Amino acid sequence: MVSTTINGVAPLTFVEPRTLPRYPDNTPAHDAYGRRIDYLRVSLTDRCNMRCVYCMPTVGMQFAPRPEMLTNDELLLVIHAAAAAGFRKLRLTGGEPTLRTDLVELVRAMKATPGIEHIAMTTNAIRLRTLAEPLQAAGLDRVNISIDSLNSQKFRQVTRGGDLHAVWEGIEAAVAAGLDPIKLNAVIVREMNDDEVGALAALTLKYPWELRFIEVMPLTGVADLANAGIVRSAELIEQIEALFGPLESLGHTASDSARRYRIPGAPGKIGLISSVTDPFCATCNRMRLTADGRLHLCLLRDNEVELRTAIRNGASQDDIEQLIRHAVAIKPWGHGLPEGMLPTLRGMSQLGG
Ligand code: SAM
Ligand code: SF4
Repeated sequence: MVSTTINGVAPLTFVEPRTLPRYPDNTPAHDAYGRRIDYLRVSLTDRCNMRCVYCMPTVGMQFAPRPEMLTNDELLLVIHAAAAAGFRKLRLTGGEPTLRTDLVELVRAMKATPGIEHIAMTTNAIRLRTLAEPLQAAGLDRVNISIDSLNSQKFRQVTRGGDLHAVWEGIEAAVAAGLDPIKLNAVIVREMNDDEVGALAALTLKYPWELRFIEVMPLTGVADLANAGIVRSAELIEQIEALFGPLESLGHTASDSARRYRIPGAPGKIGLISSVTDPFCATCNRMRLTADGRLHLCLLRDNEVELRTAIRNGASQDDIEQLIRHAVAIKPWGHGLPEGMLPTLRGMSQLGG
């Protein structure tokens, strides 16, 4: 095993699978803190057809060269190994996951993997108008759609060119295809779209959707904007209550990142994802697979375990399962934002949220 320290902080672990002590292979993977890790967020690409201000910097974006990306066969090998290690839920993300060629076939193959029970996708919905129905037929269970403004000019500004009309058509296609429940993600940035909170929350009065407000996180390339522009969940609640009256609290399910509320009488829900001010590390159940084949152990830390090298050196599914179990075993407890430790290696578009 070789562990390289990066920037004096983060170990990047290259492991020769056969040098690992053997992890028991008949139990679902638990980390050192007793958390069962059964949810894999799979980044299908680091590329995107939008350039959201809180996600990608204006200059300096570097995309993984194509030969460094996992092929479909390599990706499916990891999914089979993850399922064998006890992972049950997948979320496809990116970059923009709908840019991945053969997405429908990939979803079909993932859903057919023994052990995989649920597949969700986070998308900007630009390509959902035509993809929602075939994706649902292939086994996609539901989608989270990012929408940060209901004003087309402001939407274009936040996403640096995105077309709100196309997103709305994507949402309608997702509803028509039966991708249920529909969840909408909104990242609120001060002095950019903080005046859109009321209009976004009001969608829950009309539709049975969950509108999730996400605190902007200081990832690489956008840390300055995030630090200056963060609108805390507590402030969002105040703003929503000032408009709609006291919110009904619906609590927090252990495996989900959102605290849920409802405007009394509304068919939809409001979710608050307070990763910065009130993180949910104690109930974390997830791990991330990057498009270039590394397990990223915590969203807001740099620690990773390399899988692609092992795969290309001929590792078997059992070897990859052992590497995944190892990654779970060394997953850090939580992020270091309160101590001022920022991740430095990857931006959000490389990690998938
Ligand atoms: N392109 C897809 C999309 O936008 O839905 C999937 C990838 S995107 C990286 C996944 C989620 O991360 C989106 O909901 C996006 O709003 C969110 N996101 C991006 N940058 C963020 C940041 N700095 N802080 C918090 N959330 C962020
Ligand atoms: Fe692209 Fe999603 Fe990042 Fe926006 S948030 S730039 S849509 S990856």
